[in-house]
Amino acid sequence: MSGRPVWAEISRSKLLHNFHLLRAQAGSAELVAVVKANAYGHGNLACAQALVAGGAIWLGVTSVEEGLAVRAACPNTEILAMCGLWPGEVEAVLAQRITPVVWETVHLEEAARTGRPANVHLEIDTGMSRQGVRLAELPALLDRLQAMPVLRLEGVLTHFHSPEVLDSPANDAQFAQFVTAIDTIYARGLRPKWIHAGNSASLLDAGANKVVELAEKHGAEAMLRPGLALYGYVPRFTGGAKPAIADELKPVLAWKARIASLRTIEPGEIAGYNATFRATRPTRLALLRVGYADGLSRLLSNRGAVLVRGRRAPIAGRISMDLTIVDVTDVPGVEIGDEVVLIGEQGRERITAYEHADLAGTIPYEILCSINVRVPRLMVD
Ligand SMILES: *Cc1c(COP(=O)(O)O)cnc(C)c1O
Repeated sequence: MSGRPVWAEISRSKLLHNFHLLRAQAGSAELVAVVKANAYGHGNLACAQALVAGGAIWLGVTSVEEGLAVRAACPNTEILAMCGLWPGEVEAVLAQRITPVVWETVHLEEAARTGRPANVHLEIDTGMSRQGVRLAELPALLDRLQAMPVLRLEGVLTHFHSPEVLDSPANDAQFAQFVTAIDTIYARGLRPKWIHAGNSASLLDAGANKVVELAEKHGAEAMLRPGLALYGYVPRFTGGAKPAIADELKPVLAWKARIASLRTIEPGEIAGYNATFRATRPTRLALLRVGYADGLSRLLSNRGAVLVRGRRAPIAGRISMDLTIVDVTDVPGVEIGDEVVLIGEQGRERITAYEHADLAGTIPYEILCSINVRVPRLMVD
């Protein structure tokens, strides 16, 4: 355990609340609970274990490496490594039963290299131009796949680029491409068990129905892959009303610190690097042992706030690597050791990752997964 007075509390009950809500929303579709990037900064091992205990049968990670870490915590769950297969990884994949997402010939060759049976999920690029085989190249790739009998095509997936843009024609266009790809695959006699598409935004926007319909047409099972929503956040929906279910999600993470030092400075004195904060009155400053190396964006300097004794206290001056100064002049009775909330609730006040994201010009995803691993995660309730 770190000796620094900064930590993140992860609420198991809120994580499971969100998971069960999303499962209900998925109807007869299954979920891949995405725990990549240290479970969006929430701590992948504890979150994976809690999700599996709560009924998750699939977990999604980025790399084989992340998959190995999760496997050590979850011996029986299915683990999907979503970013391809790198040469040299197949032994670990087979030994630890990690299912790689593949789309390049080199992925197929690596998966088949040992001559032992390997499950793979094939990604289709339906328009995002990031991962996946393009439709024009699908027949040739399927020829390669079908020439490698040790490979078992267990799933087919795609990823949508703008599901939170509710009126985007791209969503239907991508789905139509996916349907064409699926029809091609089944027409060749391949029988993947799982057909999956859709992240948090798709799932919240009732995106499960059409995946279920497509899977049923081929006697397969449907899955969606929510990540962010599991942790109680949603992407910024545009082009229509935010799905009502989004408001039922509960943020899982609270980021906290304790006041480590206090001082009062006089009008005209400055605080922090480059003197960007200058006192205009006798000013009470509190020191927090958290900085941008912990993932507190330096863009919040002089703009963000924290909660102390139920009130908002502005960040004073530049956030340092390991330290942040806050102005507690308007908060009576502050003492060393007081609990401070960077993200979370205190009294009637609340600071969310959305607020940090807006101030830093980014999205809540980046705020959450930037919280450094040196900040201890404590599973509570
Ligand atoms: C990250 C990821 C998801 C989850 O996306 P969210 O927007 O966090 O729900 C789903 N599928 C793939 C392929 C991903 O990379």
